[in-house]
Amino acid sequence: MAVFDKIQTDNYEQIVFCNDSKSGLKAIIALHSTALGPATGGCRMWNYRSEEEALTDVLRLSKGMTYKNSISNLPLGGGKSIIIGDVSQKTPDLLKRFGEFVETLHGHYITAKDVGIDSSDLKTIKNRTSHILGIAGEANSSGDPSPVTAWGVYNGMLACAEKAFGKKSLAGLHVALQGLGAVNYHLLKYLHQEGAKITACDINVDAVERARKEFQVQITNPEIIYDTPCDIFSPGALGAVINPQSIPRLRCKVVAGAANNQLATEKDGEALLARGILYAPDYAINAGGVINISHEREGYSRERAYAHVAKIYDTIKNILELSSVDRLPTNLVANRIAENRVKEAERARA
Ligand code: NAD
Repeated sequence: MAVFDKIQTDNYEQIVFCNDSKSGLKAIIALHSTALGPATGGCRMWNYRSEEEALTDVLRLSKGMTYKNSISNLPLGGGKSIIIGDVSQKTPDLLKRFGEFVETLHGHYITAKDVGIDSSDLKTIKNRTSHILGIAGEANSSGDPSPVTAWGVYNGMLACAEKAFGKKSLAGLHVALQGLGAVNYHLLKYLHQEGAKITACDINVDAVERARKEFQVQITNPEIIYDTPCDIFSPGALGAVINPQSIPRLRCKVVAGAANNQLATEKDGEALLARGILYAPDYAINAGGVINISHEREGYSRERAYAHVAKIYDTIKNILELSSVDRLPTNLVANRIAENRVKEAERARA
């Protein structure tokens, strides 16, 4: 595997391979960029099929965090870490050794949770490093990220509704929700309160029943959610759902939702623009969690954090404006804004 070939194209700053034979720890910490601040992003534990797959994943995820933190105007760079292995192999020793590796980076990387790592694991890791955020249940904790992510998506949707329909609220607009999990359950509350018409789907029967009971939501089959005539289609379950197969089926004016990596490729942003569909770039509209967690650094206040997350409205509004002025897909506009902020910081640092 030619590691430098992989990291030079996108200018990764530092990749740390961590090994501890005694505890069985095999981890990779990727610092994509520290130009804006400490490289910040969660730790994922996953049973990768190969080391190459693990490296590719941590590189992709850490670069994604650079863009997410930058578009959100945070004083944070992009980083991510992965522990290779099945979660059944997780032991206190392995987690502590991971924490020691994070500590060796002296705060250039800040960790948090991701798939396979929960708050109790973070508590164990915290025994060895102070460069850690998002431990639920602790004093100064920013808590569960799902409600605040939903709050951010709701604010981003408001910016879309203003641009697409000239409306200051979502009242009367028809929103089709894909997924009724942790984030979309909370998003439903905001949509319901505001008087939006909602159609939703999920493959999980319990999630569907909860939504139907609490919010009298119209439920549809997950297979046909793309074909639902609506104003806003909101992906909140899986990645890559906006692709050459789904785009011709969409019968909406806006795509705005919580899911990560909604576009199968960057080209799909162009296809949405060609169909006259406004797309709220996923990493800008779903950044509520990281904005929220960043407030732990200065002493967490829910009020301040939620006010900050509400600024996702301005971020999306700005992207949509620039997209219509420059006739560029919104995903590329967002990338350009995020990259320019990093470049400016790099120049200042130099
Ligand atoms: P979740 O697992 O709680 O919910 C996802 C839901 O999607 C589940 O109920 C699942 O049954 C459903 N689902 C799976 N396949 C489906 C299909 N084919 N059709 C319809 N529904 C399907 O996850 P979550 O935390 O709510 O996250 C949702 C999305 O938002 C994910 O893409 C996640 O990466 C992203 N996201 C979450 C957060 C957060 O704070 N939780 C932050 C940023 C981004």
